[in-house]
Amino acid sequence: MTHLLHRSIKARLPVAVGGKGIEIFDQEGRTYIDASGGAAVSCLGHSHPDVLAALHDQLDRIAYAHTSFFTTDVAERLADRLAADAPEGLGHVYLVSGGSEAIEAALKMARQYFVEKGEPQRRHIIARRQSYHGNTLGALAAGGNEWRRAQFKPLLIETHHIDPCYAYRLQKPGESDEAYAVRAAQALEDKIVELGADQVIAFVAETVVGATAGALPPVADYLKRIRTICDRYGVLLILDEVMCGMGRTGTLHACEQEGVAPDLMTIAKGLGGGYQPIGAVLLSDRIFDAFASGSGFFQHGHTYMGHPMAAAAALAVQEVIRRDDLLQNVRAMGEHLSRRLNDRFGNHHNVGDIRGRGLFQAIELVTDRSTKAPFDPALKLHARIKQEAMGNGLMVYPMGGTIDGRSGDHVLIAPPFIAASRDIDAIVERLGDAVDAAIEDARS
Ligand code: PLP
Repeated sequence: MTHLLHRSIKARLPVAVGGKGIEIFDQEGRTYIDASGGAAVSCLGHSHPDVLAALHDQLDRIAYAHTSFFTTDVAERLADRLAADAPEGLGHVYLVSGGSEAIEAALKMARQYFVEKGEPQRRHIIARRQSYHGNTLGALAAGGNEWRRAQFKPLLIETHHIDPCYAYRLQKPGESDEAYAVRAAQALEDKIVELGADQVIAFVAETVVGATAGALPPVADYLKRIRTICDRYGVLLILDEVMCGMGRTGTLHACEQEGVAPDLMTIAKGLGGGYQPIGAVLLSDRIFDAFASGSGFFQHGHTYMGHPMAAAAALAVQEVIRRDDLLQNVRAMGEHLSRRLNDRFGNHHNVGDIRGRGLFQAIELVTDRSTKAPFDPALKLHARIKQEAMGNGLMVYPMGGTIDGRSGDHVLIAPPFIAASRDIDAIVERLGDAVDAAIEDARS
């Protein structure tokens, strides 16, 4: 009996004792290909020597200095790097310890911005169904993942949800991408008008939806239209790139591919590559200026924000990505992964959609491609796939469909940026076996 309350009280998990490159080793001597980077975290793989060296070096200098007394050179250098590479206008960086903390801070920044501006009546947050923004109460409230929210509803701040941009499920037959982009974005405008244009604080969305919908990119121009609608009503746009950002889709920020810059952007996971817990909010000059010329501070804070060890890890990870031109590898291996997934699953009776960008791709599972009907959630197909894959020495990130049956189980594939084509081939081969075995198991 373990004293550690892990995720599941029932599951018996292997004990990880080591990792190297894209592999993790367990106590029993088994090796797993980390084809999901944990949860799209490990962008450099495990035990990268340059990151380990940077961590040792920082540990020898100073491990911790509280941010109400000191700043540190390493946190300043990380902020400079992030600001230099940020989308236009996002010149300020707030360092926290993970994705949920980043979302909490972004929501509070958005609210405080309007208080500073003399618009304290603004109180509504709009987000999307089938999204995930974290598990703390504010982030959970913003998320549109009903099974996660259900039992905590009485504790959640009121948020409003519109449909995601989900071409496979929600684009009508014969509807062009352009017409669908207009219709999907119109849902935001309708919601703002319904709530009262001067009552809304922000719209929050993942640029490419991660775990909850499975590497779901928007159709062309959807986010541009969203940006225009936000500007029309003075509503702030928060893009959550905790999972899809920091190079995972082939550009440093996923929104670069949309030609859109938000007012606030959250990043985490790939920022520190799992070497330390770290997240950040990138905020625009106008929000920073409102704080600077108003109360003079952002009313928030955490004990471990700007942690020197976390900053050192993130700085080293980002320097290696740049030095080794790993985003080029993400794009090349992303194309290879897409080809391999299409070879293996393109005609598979139970794979309805193959989608994603860069090394952030997914397959969506259906009982029948022509009807797109999801598997019965009670079969827990995603859990069976995970089990089969682990048995095959493969870590992927399967998730169940929605509880209302609007979407199916899917499997997220997000290997480290250092993956080579032979790694991708092995990942797809093992995944194919795991999917087939899980479906057979579910049907028996
Ligand atoms: N936002 C998105 C898009 C995420 O995928 C996640 C985590 O999966 C979070 C926020 C929360 O991040 P964390 O688990 O680091 O709190």
